[in-house]
Amino acid sequence: MTKTGDIQKMHTTLEGSHAIYHLPIDNDLVAMNGLVGQKILLKFNGEITCSNCGRTIRKSYSQGFCYPCCQDLARCDLCIMKPETCHHHLGTCREPQWGLDNCFAPHIIYLANSSGIKVGITRKSNIPSRWIDQGAVAALPILEVDTRLKSGKIEEALKAFVNDKTNWRKMLKNEVDKVDLVATKNQLLPEVSNMMADLDAIALSNEVVKIHYPVVEYPSKVTSLNLDKTPEISGVLQGIKGQYLLLDTGVFNIRKFSSYNITLTY
Ligand SMILES: [Zn+2]
Repeated sequence: MTKTGDIQKMHTTLEGSHAIYHLPIDNDLVAMNGLVGQKILLKFNGEITCSNCGRTIRKSYSQGFCYPCCQDLARCDLCIMKPETCHHHLGTCREPQWGLDNCFAPHIIYLANSSGIKVGITRKSNIPSRWIDQGAVAALPILEVDTRLKSGKIEEALKAFVNDKTNWRKMLKNEVDKVDLVATKNQLLPEVSNMMADLDAIALSNEVVKIHYPVVEYPSKVTSLNLDKTPEISGVLQGIKGQYLLLDTGVFNIRKFSSYNITLTY
């Protein structure tokens, strides 16, 4: 089979505890789990199309946008990475309506284990995709608040006690620390009890979400594949974790190459 078109980051869902991946190529969705164990070929056709305005670009910014869109879109602003710096209330949001729709909505503060324990935040509607995108093997939503800014403030406070980063190489090699998310939550919440009251945070139940990835073999050494340097990438797909395809020839970060026009052969 051959499919050609612009790729976007994989759609992810959970079936039971199993991560299910679909790769958007133009309007098609390719079911990726079924390709694990098979040889695949990804060929970059030399064209990148901004996924917002549709112009053809030579270099992509913020994972799939042209430079002007990257400067104009609220979703590419720094406050998305640092939610505690939300500046909507100052009237300086790049897209005030987008901000209202996306940042003034229920957000979750969670603990997850991708390479070790970490704290993170996400829009409630992004669960469980957010955790699958990060390659977490387990996640525990701990608090719910009604804006992105509030979730960022609590995350910022919790960062004094836990990491907020994933070591992606460890995540891909499946070198995951053993951690007890519920015990960590029970240690952490008293540290932010005043803030929880001030921000009307709702404490959530102790339901840990476990995630299994379609992987037959994890890489022992992580080598990144890059379509800008090597426009043809091929290998046996040994698994999928996070937004990475694990090939026997290296790992390929789909998200980094969003909006690239490729031909996938399998
Ligand atoms: Zn654009």
